[in-house]
Amino acid sequence: MPRLVSLGDEALIAVDTIADRTAGLFAPNIRLGVTGLSRAGKTVFITALVHNLLHGGRLPLFDVAHSGRLVSATLEPQPDDGVPRFAYEKHVRDLVKERLWPESTRAISQLRLTLEYESANTLGRLFSRGRLHVDIVDYPGEWLLDLPLLGKSYAEFSQDAFELAGNGSRAAIAAPFLALADKADPDAPLDEEYAELLSDTYKAYLHECRNDGLSLSTLPPGRFLMPGDMDGSPALTFSPLPKLSNRAVSGSLQAMMERRFASYKSLVVKPFFRNHITRLDRQIVLVDAMRAMNTGPEAVRDLERALGDIMTCFRPGASSFLTGLWQRRIDRLLIAATKADHLHHEDHARMEAVVARLVERAAERAGGAGARVETLALAAVRATREGSVRENGDRLPVIMGTPLAGEEIDDRVFDGEAETAVFPGDMPDDLDKFFDGEAVRQSTPTRFVRFRPPDLERAAGTASLSLPHIRLDKALQFLLGDRLT
Ligand code: GDP
Repeated sequence: MPRLVSLGDEALIAVDTIADRTAGLFAPNIRLGVTGLSRAGKTVFITALVHNLLHGGRLPLFDVAHSGRLVSATLEPQPDDGVPRFAYEKHVRDLVKERLWPESTRAISQLRLTLEYESANTLGRLFSRGRLHVDIVDYPGEWLLDLPLLGKSYAEFSQDAFELAGNGSRAAIAAPFLALADKADPDAPLDEEYAELLSDTYKAYLHECRNDGLSLSTLPPGRFLMPGDMDGSPALTFSPLPKLSNRAVSGSLQAMMERRFASYKSLVVKPFFRNHITRLDRQIVLVDAMRAMNTGPEAVRDLERALGDIMTCFRPGASSFLTGLWQRRIDRLLIAATKADHLHHEDHARMEAVVARLVERAAERAGGAGARVETLALAAVRATREGSVRENGDRLPVIMGTPLAGEEIDDRVFDGEAETAVFPGDMPDDLDKFFDGEAVRQSTPTRFVRFRPPDLERAAGTASLSLPHIRLDKALQFLLGDRLT
């Protein structure tokens, strides 16, 4: 296949920028990236965001909607023909009709939402109405964690991977891989089946790290967890190796692994950053901080490390690969703790404080400067209502909802139909103690029940049948508000 070998990354980006500008002459567009690690809530967030805009949801903190200036919101064909479309209609059917959570993000997808609005100022209203195309780009956060790999050789990648695998609670689950790798001879002649076995065992360990018991976050290579359409290709069939020779013997296992690692970087990581990440204007990163907090200090520290790596991607100057590649610099970055409906609102401020502190520490690690960063606790879909119960004369705040079929509370197994009230537990109020490490486990919510999506007919206070949420409108205002004035 012919390739444009003579054009460097920068030149390609410049061509794209001109094309984008020309296409945007009549209605400007804004590319909004939505990311987060798997199960953070990307699919639910995008579906709820679009549904609320299409169906006139309650959005008091989103100025253009609140002030009655939003004339219309419509879905239009997206500009990038080579990217799958976000399956909005199917996700809405699941959420609204079936009251089931939609299928989660597995790869990149895109949706164009066009907003027509009246200008906020009198002068602006003399001209025609404004139109803004919002191109929403949904992609796995795991893929962002690959950025640091670009600066690493195969030997460095291997060394870091073994160091991490031998650490803390990873050591036990990495044991099968570590034992297998220990017997591997990097100088032995390459053997496809053996390479596959090593790679599969390494991937199994990475998957295990994501399970509920550990909830670890930093696990590159990202495509090992979220392969997208590259599953099974040689560029995804490698693993770190110990005891490497300084120079790989030609035709050896080490030479094969080195080549595949290089292919992973050039065929998978670089094009992803060049074609998608560097074209974004705004970014929201969703984090399931509660899940990490429920698991323990190691998961919280790991989340912090992952956030640091993710933030590096959006801070021009912090990575040599990305410097100069940005065609449209990200100027706003929102880091949002999701699923706030699992907490009583009395605890939301503490949740936000925890995330703000996590981000502050992660930003220190990431270095660089750039985008304006804000943090927020939200629920894209509010599956619970609030109430209180009296216990021994005390008023206890509770949340009420329909636990998913199979959820268990105090030995009661739920059928997916019955409602119940849950005391969600308290968030820590002493952050210094919390980030000390040891306090994490004792002071965080313990009742983490998964609820079914709400019954819209019964959701309180909604005039139209739009999905109830918590602070989705505040997120929208930060991400889009200034472009709709
Ligand atoms: P993705 O992997 O980032 O696309 O994650 P999803 O959007 O599929 O969300 C994963 C799961 O988290 C869902 O199946 C829900 O169980 C839960 N979830 C996500 N967002 C919310 C929310 O706003 N409220 C509640 N209660 N649960 C949510």
